[in-house]
Amino acid sequence: MRDLQALTSLPFDLIVIGGGINGAATARDAALRGLRTILIEKGDFGGGTTSWSSRLLHGGLRYLEYFEFDLVRESLHEREVLLRNAPHLVKPLSLTIPIYRSGSRSYRIVQAGMVLYDLLSYDKSLPNHRMLSRRSTRQLFRAIDADGLAGAAQYYDGQAEHAERLCLENILDAEQAGATVLNYAQVEDIHLSEQRITGLTCRDLLSGDPFEVTIHDRSVVINASGPWVDEVCGLSQSPVSKGRQIGGTKGSHIIVDAFPGAPNSALYVEAKSDGRPFFILPWLSQYLIGTTDEHYTGSLDRVKADDAEIDYLLKETNAVLPAAHLTREDVRFTYAGVRPLPYAEGKKTGSITRAHILHDHSQEGAKNLISLIGGKLTTHRQVGEEFVNAAFRQRGEAVPTCPTHQRPLPGAMLLDDPRVGEWRDRYRHRIAPTSLSHLIAIYGARTGDLLALIDRHPALAQPIVDYAPDIQAQIVFAVQAELAHTFVDILRHRTTVAMHHTYGFAALPVVAQVLQEYCGWSENLCDRNIRAYHQFMSTNCIPDYALGQESASLQTA
Ligand SMILES: Cc1cc2nc3c(=O)[nH]c(=O)nc-3n(C[C@H](O)[C@H](O)[C@H](O)COP(=O)(O)OP(=O)(O)OC[C@H]3O[C@@H](n4cnc5c(N)ncnc54)[C@H](O)[C@@H]3O)c2cc1C
Repeated sequence: MRDLQALTSLPFDLIVIGGGINGAATARDAALRGLRTILIEKGDFGGGTTSWSSRLLHGGLRYLEYFEFDLVRESLHEREVLLRNAPHLVKPLSLTIPIYRSGSRSYRIVQAGMVLYDLLSYDKSLPNHRMLSRRSTRQLFRAIDADGLAGAAQYYDGQAEHAERLCLENILDAEQAGATVLNYAQVEDIHLSEQRITGLTCRDLLSGDPFEVTIHDRSVVINASGPWVDEVCGLSQSPVSKGRQIGGTKGSHIIVDAFPGAPNSALYVEAKSDGRPFFILPWLSQYLIGTTDEHYTGSLDRVKADDAEIDYLLKETNAVLPAAHLTREDVRFTYAGVRPLPYAEGKKTGSITRAHILHDHSQEGAKNLISLIGGKLTTHRQVGEEFVNAAFRQRGEAVPTCPTHQRPLPGAMLLDDPRVGEWRDRYRHRIAPTSLSHLIAIYGARTGDLLALIDRHPALAQPIVDYAPDIQAQIVFAVQAELAHTFVDILRHRTTVAMHHTYGFAALPVVAQVLQEYCGWSENLCDRNIRAYHQFMSTNCIPDYALGQESASLQTA
């Protein structure tokens, strides 16, 4: 149990509300630049929009059509910084855009966009684009619909298969640099006096106990709560914001196993029915397909891909890859999130800017509050830098140099690192080669700490389930070294076991047994977690059309 009462007397300089990728990057930067920092997250770190994204670190080719050259340039620059500072988590990804004569963008238009994209990423380490003829496209993608095909464009972006872990490593680095980082702690009330925030009433959602965070004269509060920004502003008795800031749009994904005609690399396709672009992405030996983009005003805590969105993604994938014949039966997992976009009355969803805005509330009733409107996964480091610069200025202090441009994340390591060979030699009789490669790909330089658990407890080398490469040591590591508190944290955010064909249900008895044996969890706590896990999956991930089947199979079990 945590005791958060002591926090009341601590003098924090920077208080970050929200532990998604942008809050995490801000807390990391602030702590590294010497600000006494606390980050407060009501769920798990990265469990909000960050965990529901398409996981691409991209310039945003599409934004060129809206002349957002600054945004594209900034994103391409940040893509490069991430490839350098987090090479274990961010990998180059080859994407192909098939071009059809009936499509809304001609071969020449796409080519012009590609040239511009290359120009705006003049300092990149990734290869330039190449245009493919119809013949070469068909040779490379034999299953692609050939009717009206004019050719294709190929280019590179970045992919973070484990976007949640990118967030977590920012959190761990922030903590290492001295920040206090709390998950399952919700801000419930914002206290104002003379147009300054003077305190926050929070609740420890693990114990149910309230606690206070005192805000001092020069403390700055950062509202990095993503789509919840307006909700957080509304926690104050007197107004801190003039009207609505966020106009979220919902995006849904489906995950399917490899299917007939599945491409070896990623496709970026224009939907036949409405011309919207969507991705078919190879992802952890499966395919991640998405997204949709719809105005959204529902609950932010319960967002789910609806049946119509799932059918749309299946139909459009079958249209471009006719051999796929994907049906609802093929869907292994679904997820949806709300993009925290700026409120733009009456605008088409695709045309709303994806650029971020730091909204200073000085003129609206809270002199020490700044909110983030928008912000992509790709640009989180830049957002952190801008927030911390703004905080120093607001405190009337000189702005120290930002360290995150050059500083690698804690797990940063290249695959030719000599430690990789040592781990392979040492553990080859205990861990399957695919599992070891998987561990190195997600933990990077921290793999050694994880493997040390196996030296002490050899049984933890066993797999969690037979369909995923994860091993039982990861369960203990998640709790002991990665701030996980629930089964959802372990199976959905620290590992990806949840996102396979059984929604991770098969792993639940193993997780319970390991936590009871190695981490002192009671049977009662594990049972409560199992129920909460089923609730989470039903609320967020299992399609409505499949919910009856899932509860029937549970009753049988
Ligand atoms: C479908 C979809 C696909 C996307 N794909 C991409 C992509 O491929 N590439 C890309 O760059 N971007 C992508 N994005 C955008 C990107 O994912 C988000 O902009 C980004 O993750 C937002 O991060 P954040 O930290 O600002 O918000 P979040 O991750 O939502 O974090 C905010 C946090 O605040 C917490 N919070 C809320 N209220 C409180 C409170 N009262 N007290 C404490 N904590 C609170 C929430 O629990 C949440 O965890 C996509 C977004 C969506 C929805």
